[in-house]
Amino acid sequence: MSGELPIVIVGGGVAGLATALAVAPLPVLLLCRNADGGDSASTLAQGGIAAAIGDGDDVAAHVADTLAAGAGHNDLVMVRWLCRNASGAVEWLTSLGVPFDRDSGGQLALGREGGHRAARIVHAGGDASGAAVVRSMHAQARAATHIDWRSDVDVDALLLRDGRVCGVRARDINGRQEEIQAAAVVLATGGMGALFARTSNPPGAIGSGLVLGMAAGAATRDLEFMQFHPTALDVADGHCLPLVTEALRGAGARLRRIDGSPLMDKLHAMGDLAPRDIVARQVWRALRDDGRVWLDTSGVEGDLASRFPTVHASCLAHGIDPRHAPIPVTPAAHFHMGGLSVDLEGRTTVRGLYAVGEVACNGVHGANRLASNSLLEGLLCGRRTGQHLSRLPTTPARGQHQWRQRGESLALPALVELRRSLWDAAGPVRVESTLQHALDGELLRNPTGWQARLAKQLIAAALGRRTSLGSHYRED
Ligand SMILES: Cc1cc2nc3c(=O)[nH]c(=O)nc-3n(C[C@H](O)[C@H](O)[C@H](O)COP(=O)(O)OP(=O)(O)OC[C@H]3O[C@@H](n4cnc5c(N)ncnc54)[C@H](O)[C@@H]3O)c2cc1C
Repeated sequence: MSGELPIVIVGGGVAGLATALAVAPLPVLLLCRNADGGDSASTLAQGGIAAAIGDGDDVAAHVADTLAAGAGHNDLVMVRWLCRNASGAVEWLTSLGVPFDRDSGGQLALGREGGHRAARIVHAGGDASGAAVVRSMHAQARAATHIDWRSDVDVDALLLRDGRVCGVRARDINGRQEEIQAAAVVLATGGMGALFARTSNPPGAIGSGLVLGMAAGAATRDLEFMQFHPTALDVADGHCLPLVTEALRGAGARLRRIDGSPLMDKLHAMGDLAPRDIVARQVWRALRDDGRVWLDTSGVEGDLASRFPTVHASCLAHGIDPRHAPIPVTPAAHFHMGGLSVDLEGRTTVRGLYAVGEVACNGVHGANRLASNSLLEGLLCGRRTGQHLSRLPTTPARGQHQWRQRGESLALPALVELRRSLWDAAGPVRVESTLQHALDGELLRNPTGWQARLAKQLIAAALGRRTSLGSHYRED
């Protein structure tokens, strides 16, 4: 390492923060769009973090559930590593001051979510887990002397010399641009759910880092695998929808058809807590047929407002009191399993370029992520990549410099059309004719904006995978 140039990390969610903390003592420059990470998916996480620490639970069961959810498409080495290190990640977060919820005996309170055969979700603030985790990590990172910050910036280009990534270009909110040299660049830019018409993701989760990596020549993997959460709040004309956490079903809430009959009965042994893709498709079909699906919370014990304050508040904000009325729900694009192809250390296929968190694909989630495994992945992989970088002897890059740009953005009307097209063609249920129709349409035939280029790649990947697997469901 030059000793002068920083490791540049793009993104201030859990993956970026975990990487930044672990790079010490080497200097880090953390670039993010928002000063406190408040625009990240990490902050929105409700359910929590999966760790096999309960009585009668063990790492092998966590591994088995992760593989079952991922339809066996997972990288087994990564899965074992993730599950084995989960309890250590929870201990580390506790040492940073994350106030995890505890039972009356002082033990960590464990929730249960879809696809888990045991209660193993550690949570904080009821359903405000992500915000609690980001707050503590953020405070730690702000206090760390090796980390410099630049917030309110958008990174829109990568600098290459001799085939190696060695810098970024960042623009601030006034359009001023800055070129920054780096010893290495880590993309921790999150997912791309907000490119779909209905999503639980924040508006900025549109795959910007994924496109940057692709522009630099990095290989991608599994782009067709997008997880759809079965229960976002069904708000008319909404795009980024409030999530109605699965933990609510873990606590006794039931999905019901418009006539009140249970939606998931006899469809899966785990009923309402079947893996997400199965529940999401069932909700999608019932919505198509009946126009409404309800989540009935009358079976949830205790005070819903204090157990699930985030869900309670977002329902109230839309005129629904979930203690007295069922919640209207819809599936929504939630988590992208695909991304920039990386190895165990977070290396992409381009020298000097790393990726961690949701923008990356190391195969751990397979074809469908097990609930509450992604904060865990961001934390553990971020730390691993950071530690790897902290030991890496690098020499300053030489040679002809070359900028690889994300490119022009789509104008808003075209972006809205693109979201609709992705939802219709590559949503929870996919068929060849609709996928092909989207590819042949004006927006994607000769894509002008970078969002359209990314959507085209995803749809082409979905078209190419002719059989159903995990979250990728081909009705034909
Ligand atoms: C509503 C919701 C609930 C969830 N609940 C859970 C849960 O309970 N448990 C769980 O494990 N997972 C959950 N997830 C998934 C999990 O939150 C995410 O997968 C994870 O937080 C991703 O972390 P990340 O650091 O990779 O990305 P993010 O947290 O999204 O952070 C990415 C950051 O990069 C910034 N960025 C992006 N592009 C650029 C750019 N070009 N220039 C500068 N900055 C950029 C963004 O602004 C953002 O701050 C949930 C997701 C959502 C949306």
